[in-house]
Amino acid sequence: MRIGLLADIHANLAAFTAVLKDAEQRGGLDEYWFLGDIVNYGPDPVKCVELVLRLKNTSVSGNHDLAAAGKIPLKLFNPDAAAAMEWTTRQLNASDTAFLTGLSQVTVRDEFTLVHGSPRDPDWEYLVSKGQARECFGYFKTRYCLIGHSHEPLLFRQEEDGSVTYVNFTETNGQVVGKHRFILNPGSVGQPRDGDPRASYAVYDTQSRMIKLFRVPYDIGTTQLKMVKANLPMRLVARLEKGL
Ligand code: ZN
Repeated sequence: MRIGLLADIHANLAAFTAVLKDAEQRGGLDEYWFLGDIVNYGPDPVKCVELVLRLKNTSVSGNHDLAAAGKIPLKLFNPDAAAAMEWTTRQLNASDTAFLTGLSQVTVRDEFTLVHGSPRDPDWEYLVSKGQARECFGYFKTRYCLIGHSHEPLLFRQEEDGSVTYVNFTETNGQVVGKHRFILNPGSVGQPRDGDPRASYAVYDTQSRMIKLFRVPYDIGTTQLKMVKANLPMRLVARLEKGL
């Protein structure tokens, strides 16, 4: 079975559909695990939620999904994110909001714990350092953990002696799903922040027990034009082409 690992779509339909097409061309996917933040920032929240619902999905909530569902106050967001969220909540219909409201913050699938931020703080923690990872290995019971939120591909592996190694997780350097525990972030579909503007996702192949990262070019201009027309904050429009 081949499982797509997708995080931080952020209402970017052009990026989301480019990822699905890329996965199709690589042999297709049987399931999709979504690691939070389907909505906000981008111009297509409704279509992105509806596309997730059409796929065989296991989904956890991100902080932006919870805010769109009214579960997190807007004052906890920066002004651009809050302005985009006000627009987003106006677009969503009742069934979209009900789906987002019903998402859980933590879900276990097989040997994996799925969260958005970190297993210690699923809503807010940006898990980006070895020190954080070392502590966070104590906050989930499965062997492996999948995260999103920081919008960059990341991989932390726990060694036999308990020490934690940062592994450079790239398109040419996949991760074996074996004896080592790890925390892995497949990067962001809809708003990458690692300096590479291409959409990012990963595939877990349960036969080969490998997780591989893929980067997919998409029509950034289409997304940007829709954002301008929707009067979304210009900083959010500009950052897409920089991948920052
Ligand atoms: Zn996000």
